[in-house]
Amino acid sequence: MRYEAIIIGGGLGGLVSGIRLAQAGRRVAIISAGKSALHFCSGSLELWSKWREELLGLSESHPSHPYNIVGLERLERYTKEVKEMFRRAGMSLVGDFEKPHYRLTPIGGLKPAWLTLEEYVTFGAKSDLEGRRVLIVGLEGYLDFYPEFIASGLGRLGAECRVEKVSLPELERLRESAAEMRAVGIARQMQGEALERLAEKVSGLAEGCDLVLLPAVFGLADEECFRRFARMMKPAEVRVAPTVSASVPGVRAQRLLSEEFVRLGGQLIQGDRVVSYQLDRSGRIESLSTINHADILFRADDFILATGSFFGRGLVATSENIVEPIFGLDVVAAEAREEWCGEKILGEQPFQRFGVRVDGRLHPLKGGRPVENLYAVGSVLAGADAVKEGCGAGVVISTALMAADEILEQNGKRKEESL
Ligand SMILES: Cc1cc2nc3c(=O)[nH]c(=O)nc-3n(C[C@H](O)[C@H](O)[C@H](O)COP(=O)(O)OP(=O)(O)OC[C@H]3O[C@@H](n4cnc5c(N)ncnc54)[C@H](O)[C@@H]3O)c2cc1C
Repeated sequence: MRYEAIIIGGGLGGLVSGIRLAQAGRRVAIISAGKSALHFCSGSLELWSKWREELLGLSESHPSHPYNIVGLERLERYTKEVKEMFRRAGMSLVGDFEKPHYRLTPIGGLKPAWLTLEEYVTFGAKSDLEGRRVLIVGLEGYLDFYPEFIASGLGRLGAECRVEKVSLPELERLRESAAEMRAVGIARQMQGEALERLAEKVSGLAEGCDLVLLPAVFGLADEECFRRFARMMKPAEVRVAPTVSASVPGVRAQRLLSEEFVRLGGQLIQGDRVVSYQLDRSGRIESLSTINHADILFRADDFILATGSFFGRGLVATSENIVEPIFGLDVVAAEAREEWCGEKILGEQPFQRFGVRVDGRLHPLKGGRPVENLYAVGSVLAGADAVKEGCGAGVVISTALMAADEILEQNGKRKEESL
């Protein structure tokens, strides 16, 4: 099979690159093995854990950070473009590069965020909490949502919080199996009469409150489910708060971005793993082989590696070292195993910054030399600590768009030269 570009990995990075290329009319395929980190998304696409000013000094404070390759001007532009890309795919993001806000963590803390899915609660400033009357509603038997922690966190910032629990007959059935009483299982029930019943119960409890928070368990397929619920809840403002474990809005984002890619003409090959590659005579990558299509070569002019970090198995830790398993690319990692992890479990973890080494155009290096028609994007890259710096999705989105733009630019030049 022949394409203009093939992307390995269909998480946030692969999909964003794929949508950009498909939108430009390129014949593009994504081959993706398994679940992506989007399935656990907090609801915010994180760009940087502090405020914008800190990014200005990044080349000195964090010289190896991928943002230095992208550059601030592009980062700002891509932030706007991805908001529009999500909107076209059916998801509304609030916030922008100029005006960061605070998002709520599952245990009631506030973290700076720049882009957050609209249904999640956000605050312009911590002082916005003062005097607010907040009702936090848990679901009976659902253990991945912590209303008391949230109440205590918001209470410390001056909000007056009340916690209530509600039960629904539809959820009682789920409680018979602990594995079913999870966000995704609950979201499947949140429609029709169950949604109306929940709105009625919560409305009854919301008297005197100006903000109602519920766990993010609405709408696996689209945003309309939560919007319907919110309309039934008038006049109190209703928002969701993050749950731990699988994220319903994250599963939805994976689905809607995949659908958008296919709608634009991209080919999505799911449940298959790229295991090896072939070179042409000039040393360029010519094709890929996968597990499920052992007798077919996937050929393309350009390739994007968007296989994620350890979570997506884009990086693999062996007993001796850290490897990039498809191409055997150069990896930045501490040599001694005891230096991979920090001593304190909640402290800085060196392995977070491990990843593939790239040049200034996102070509990964192999044996110290750039691989010309391969680009590496997203959390497979070295140099960022998504947890400590709060830059997970920012690095992914900006490098994914940059790689796609590089491919489009290089293709344009090749076409001009051949005329
Ligand atoms: C659990 C978790 C939660 C996170 N939550 C957030 C958050 O809320 N906000 C935020 O900003 N950042 C978050 N991050 C940071 C996160 O890394 C990024 O936001 C982002 O989603 C990662 O995207 P990615 O495309 O680089 O990798 P991934 O999402 O890991 O996707 C890589 C994909 O490539 C596939 N793949 C791997 N190897 C192959 C192969 N050989 N062949 C074919 N396919 C392959 C994998 O199956 C996977 O589907 C989180 C990270 C993790 C691990």
